[in-house]
Amino acid sequence: MSEATRVLVLNAGSSSVKYQLIDMVDGERLAAGLVERIGESEGRLVHSPHGGARRESAQAFPDHSSGLKAMAEELAADGVGLDSPELAAIGHRVVHGGRRFTAPTVVTDEVLTEIRRLVPVAPLHNPANIIGIEVARALRPDLPQVAVFDTAFHTTVPEFAARYAIDRTVADEHRVRRYGFHGTSHQYVSRATAQLLGKDPAEVNVIVLHLGNGASASAVAGGVCVDTSMGLTPLEGLVMGTRSGDVDPGVIFHLHRVGGLSVDEIDDLLNRRSGLLGLCGDNDMREVLRRAGEGDADAELAFQAYVHRLRKYIGAYYAVLGRVDAIAFTAGVGENAAPVREAATAELESLGIAVDPELNSVRSGEARVISPAYARVTVAVVPTDEELEIAQQAFALVRRS
Ligand code: AMP
Repeated sequence: MSEATRVLVLNAGSSSVKYQLIDMVDGERLAAGLVERIGESEGRLVHSPHGGARRESAQAFPDHSSGLKAMAEELAADGVGLDSPELAAIGHRVVHGGRRFTAPTVVTDEVLTEIRRLVPVAPLHNPANIIGIEVARALRPDLPQVAVFDTAFHTTVPEFAARYAIDRTVADEHRVRRYGFHGTSHQYVSRATAQLLGKDPAEVNVIVLHLGNGASASAVAGGVCVDTSMGLTPLEGLVMGTRSGDVDPGVIFHLHRVGGLSVDEIDDLLNRRSGLLGLCGDNDMREVLRRAGEGDADAELAFQAYVHRLRKYIGAYYAVLGRVDAIAFTAGVGENAAPVREAATAELESLGIAVDPELNSVRSGEARVISPAYARVTVAVVPTDEELEIAQQAFALVRRS
């Protein structure tokens, strides 16, 4: 029998599932795809086989189960079906692992129960992740299903940074504390940054700036996360595409008491109608940059507010780490928006931070240094790869067990 070296990675959202089939021998993507608009009258499946033409089909997916079955059929058509003996595990992105899940975990009934217990702190994400696991389990009951948690990398954040300064009895009763998210990306990028520097992760202190539609910063000391900008939920911290990031909690009371908004309306406002979108009407940084370049005042303000918050976190994490060896930009904005990287690091020479304009303007999918050789802190662009990290963690776990 051939050795099982493939991992299927599933990222199940409320109405979509992203998937990748990865061969762990060389990290090659054997297939990647997306099932979307699950539960709507018309859904869509986009499937890209390795080296082949992308296939797209429109059909209704009444539930996640039908979506994943359609994915399984596409994989089977490429000769890499779920029944393949080469499949070693299915790795699942699970957003909230609370304090208990500090590492990837093989899913058992008991583990599922615990993930379910965390639904109140991740109502938008964990239910979909649970469905993804249940459906995958039904498709291949004999195969290890591995949960890789977005919060796990942040479970090392010390208690004084993870606690909100609120009554501890109330906080404990409702499990209110800072958990952090995007952990898989922060972990992957901090390690890849050390690699880029030719050093062991244990020797390197890195500030990771994950700037996608959601955005978060983390301070990683010697490979261990010591602080991160997202909190109980992914709302805290940086200015994001549609999320406000940090606001005075008093804003919420004010909007409720004086503005007459309900809690659900405020939730919607801060999560879906704020950030860049709230400030200028566009949540996509490309649009913000284009409009700002044409002199649009709202877009310019949105850009400056975004960058100002980013600079505050760079300064804060500099102080948290004491010594910074590298700052890594990643995700959609971090990897592509040179003006954001330039503005976020401008005039910080006294902290040893500088960016070389020419290196910063290079467009590439590779990890690369953009700071000049003389700078004490290496500034880098390091593309994230959450799927590969999930696959590696899942594979390492099933190999050990
Ligand atoms: P992600 O969540 O990592 O997929 O990032 C998505 C976001 O990246 C988009 O909403 C855009 O704001 C941003 N983005 C992608 N490409 C570019 C680009 N070329 N320039 C600026 N921003 C970009």
